[in-house]
Amino acid sequence: MGVNAEYNTTNIDLTNAMNDTLNEARNAGFTLPKNVQIDASLFKDVRNRRNNPASYILSLDDVAVNPSADFWKNSVVDAAANKSSGFWTTSSTRHPLRHELGHAIHKTNIGLTRFRAEFTMPLDKAQRRLVRKNVSRYGSSSRGEFVAEVFSGLMDGASYADPVMALYKKFGGPLLS
Ligand SMILES: [Zn+2]
Repeated sequence: MGVNAEYNTTNIDLTNAMNDTLNEARNAGFTLPKNVQIDASLFKDVRNRRNNPASYILSLDDVAVNPSADFWKNSVVDAAANKSSGFWTTSSTRHPLRHELGHAIHKTNIGLTRFRAEFTMPLDKAQRRLVRKNVSRYGSSSRGEFVAEVFSGLMDGASYADPVMALYKKFGGPLLS
């Protein structure tokens, strides 16, 4: 698949979700990250790790998934709750995987230097209002989180208002062909 995948989990649903997420991104024409790991030990030093289903490790170009996170035990209910509260832009159980993959593909799209510089840049007030209303609260926290949230939504078949897509393009969001 062009990616170094290491899965250390007995959760078959999670393994399948990860493979499906990689396949949908590859089929959409995106370059996959170097590494994808499902391994709880990667999160052993992370605070609140039970609340952290997945993460993108920039230095390793690694989408890291935490099979011990509470989310993966109750993903249908939790994903729906995250959507209905406005925190996430989709209610898909694959949302965390697509979101983290979105960071990786965004980095490849705009290059490491620009990604590093812009990832944590805050949105301005008008942009935050636009994103909270049309995307998600998670997406309103920085340029990088905005791009990852919209990417996850696009992969889920969502569409967004023109001003949202204009902002997404401006920040180098990866477009589906
Ligand atoms: Zn993120």
